Amino acid sequence: MLVRILFLLVTLAGELVVGGLIDTFITTRKDFSGLLVYFSMAAWLIGLEMQARHILRPPGGAADPPPAGLAPAGGAVHIRAMAAQLDHTTIHAIFSRFQAAEPEPKGELAHVNAYTLLVAVALSAQATDAGVNRATAALFRIADTPEKMLALGEEGLIAHIRTIGLYRNKAKNVIKLSRILVEQYGGAVPSSRAALQALPGVGRKTANVVLNMWWRLPAQAVDTHIFRLGNRSGIAPGRDVVAVERAIEDHVPAEFQLHAHHWMILHGRYVCKARKPACPACLIRDLCAYEEKTE
Ligand code: SF4
Repeated sequence: MLVRILFLLVTLAGELVVGGLIDTFITTRKDFSGLLVYFSMAAWLIGLEMQARHILRPPGGAADPPPAGLAPAGGAVHIRAMAAQLDHTTIHAIFSRFQAAEPEPKGELAHVNAYTLLVAVALSAQATDAGVNRATAALFRIADTPEKMLALGEEGLIAHIRTIGLYRNKAKNVIKLSRILVEQYGGAVPSSRAALQALPGVGRKTANVVLNMWWRLPAQAVDTHIFRLGNRSGIAPGRDVVAVERAIEDHVPAEFQLHAHHWMILHGRYVCKARKPACPACLIRDLCAYEEKTE
């Protein structure tokens, strides 16, 4: 920080010195061509200063936003809310309580097969599960396979999903991915993260949800609720979603890995809420490391 301040002071002083010299030159020589030199030098020094700001910014510093494309929508966590990583015994106790309260947690996106799950998750980006379910209730009655979706077409799909944000782009992607499923996978949904992520509109989170909910792999899809809960509680602190995903994989005991995604998402959505976490009613209050618990 000190180096950064010194560098900025030097460049600012340079601007002032050059400005003063040019001003003197203009005043004594009555030659206004010096103005051109002045603006050129000022522009060069301002450029140097901006470069300094960029170069000297600490990578991943507290004031930086999470890396683009990695932080979940609305999920950027304030540095104060990032607790230290909890130990194994504490995390085991937390997930034992989650399991006792809800042995078989379920996702809330309505679907009838792997394909409709994939489409529902793709549609749910920056939308609520309830909103997606309202839109897909009628859609999946007539288009529950990629072949039927292609027959419905982009405009037909849009007619069903126009209440969902970014519906035009999502409709384009659903039609494109349906075509790929038909042409490359015989209409089936692939079961690897790489193959899923190669589909249009399918990111790491969507792929992980499908792997977890349909293929029952211990994949951790980190959304805004899991990101917030992981950082506040110390279950899985991390500056971006991949770091939180890794922390869950590394620290949650194996017997809880399969359902960790749903336990955390439901707890984050309904208890450890963004604006005002319901700490007094939280079943892991005594184990949570968040320092600003509500009363
Ligand atoms: S005690 Fe409060 S901050 Fe900690 S997990 Fe529960 S609701 Fe969230």
